Amino acid sequence: MKKNISIIGSGFSSLAAACYMAKAGYGVNVYEKNPQLGGRARSFTEQGFTFDMGPTWYWMPDVFERFFGDFGKKTTDYYTLERLSPGYRVYFGEDNFVDIAAETEKIKATFEKMEPGSAEKLQEFLDKAGKNYKIAIKDLVYKPGISPLELVTMDTIFELKQFYLTIQDYVRKHFNDSRLQQILEFPVLFLGAKPGNTPLFYSFMNYADFCLGTWYAKGGMISVVNGMIELARELGVQFHTHANVTGINVDEKGKVSSIYVNGEIISTRLIISGADYRHSESLLPEEFRTYTETFWSKKIMAPSSLLFYVGISKKLKNVLHHTLFFDASFDEHAIEIYDKPAWPANPLFYASFPSMTDDSVAPSGHEAAIFLIPLAPDLTDDEETREKYFNMIMSRLESLTKQTVRDHIVFKRSYCVKDFKEDYNSFKGNAYGMANTLLQTAFLRPKLKSKKVKNLFFTGQLTVPGPGVPPSLISGKLVSEIIIKENTLKHETVI
Ligand SMILES: Cc1cc2nc3c(=O)[nH]c(=O)nc-3n(C[C@H](O)[C@H](O)[C@H](O)COP(=O)(O)OP(=O)(O)OC[C@H]3O[C@@H](n4cnc5c(N)ncnc54)[C@H](O)[C@@H]3O)c2cc1C
Repeated sequence: MKKNISIIGSGFSSLAAACYMAKAGYGVNVYEKNPQLGGRARSFTEQGFTFDMGPTWYWMPDVFERFFGDFGKKTTDYYTLERLSPGYRVYFGEDNFVDIAAETEKIKATFEKMEPGSAEKLQEFLDKAGKNYKIAIKDLVYKPGISPLELVTMDTIFELKQFYLTIQDYVRKHFNDSRLQQILEFPVLFLGAKPGNTPLFYSFMNYADFCLGTWYAKGGMISVVNGMIELARELGVQFHTHANVTGINVDEKGKVSSIYVNGEIISTRLIISGADYRHSESLLPEEFRTYTETFWSKKIMAPSSLLFYVGISKKLKNVLHHTLFFDASFDEHAIEIYDKPAWPANPLFYASFPSMTDDSVAPSGHEAAIFLIPLAPDLTDDEETREKYFNMIMSRLESLTKQTVRDHIVFKRSYCVKDFKEDYNSFKGNAYGMANTLLQTAFLRPKLKSKKVKNLFFTGQLTVPGPGVPPSLISGKLVSEIIIKENTLKHETVI
């Protein structure tokens, strides 16, 4: 009889795990509370506009290729990729912006023009970052975070300095122009932590940015989700939407015995939960939870976000597909996110205009726009506050890009802390899980395997390797490898 596994949630990590488990011969059922699959990477279509609700940057294309390659497939079997050129634009003020080219040599030329001598320093930095990328992405992040020894390799032992120096230490020592500093510090924001709190080793994110490029999957990130769902279905995975898991039951031997889905009991002897880790453990009776409320209260969560999905009845000028608005103090905003959580006085924000690359995501002559303001987790949000920030960023967008936008808005929806909590059971309304700081890296993160309940496993951005789409794919692979290796159900057959 086929061994069965229940997977909670349908984010990237759960989808990846579902594919690996199905390939290994398990009967896989995925239970997702929301009407759509994809977790934070869901999308919605309204009045002809399609919006990715979460991730929009497609970085580290090799990780996606490696995922599909594990099933004898290629990304092109499921979706079409385009490298964005330029990759993105960063505004620092009026008539003051920098475009990051798709070619490293052109980026170096931009640096040199802004700060003589910086091209050579950038090359040195990227050489180191490239080495780190090879060590990290080809090897370290594919380790299950069980023991500190995983980090000790012939490569890392000589790189110890890179674990106690931060990205900010390095960047601010070698580059003087504050715009260059911000451009180099920005990629680690994807890890959910401040550059001043992120080990230099994570410069591999800069290599991903400047050397591997920014890509776009036609149709948006949802095309990647749909590609993975298609692959999963080919492998026999069954998906259940509107399927809220409200409890995990444990038998007298301390093994998983069943789950409650929409009040109905379903027998299951093996579970992977890709829902937020703290929520997943809250589904267990208290004595079976590995991590206490005190543990969680001490963790540095990645930021939450205030998002706006906006349909505009004209094409915009002076912006690129990805445009960052760094015309405010990076440091002050970081303090308001991490050190003294508060609604930011003058936030940085990010805008994505996918319809600049892809006609299919907006009606002809229109623009689909997504705006994101990173926020401290757990802030109280209400309509009035959201509107205040919308007007704030619209004024900046209009003045910096020299055009009216507000008069042409035909659709608008906001999304914030409250929605992250309600829709995803997200701890403190985090958007990107748990930050990857030095003390929250690798073996120091919540474990893939429950210490207290047999046959219960976890995956996703709160466990290893961490936040982001590529790490989530890897997390699904890591958890599946542990289960397959342990052959947990060797002598058991399951309903
Ligand atoms: C606004 C935003 C922008 C981002 N931008 C980028 C980007 O540009 N590039 C990038 O690489 N990464 C980005 N990220 C991060 C990336 O999206 C995430 O790291 C990744 O998608 C997380 O996947 P996951 O599988 O860990 O969890 P999730 O996507 O959160 O999936 C968990 C799923 O579990 C479900 N669930 C929860 N509780 C239950 C329950 N009780 N029963 C059933 N189902 C349940 C939830 O509904 C959800 O669908 C962004 C994230 C956000 C929110």
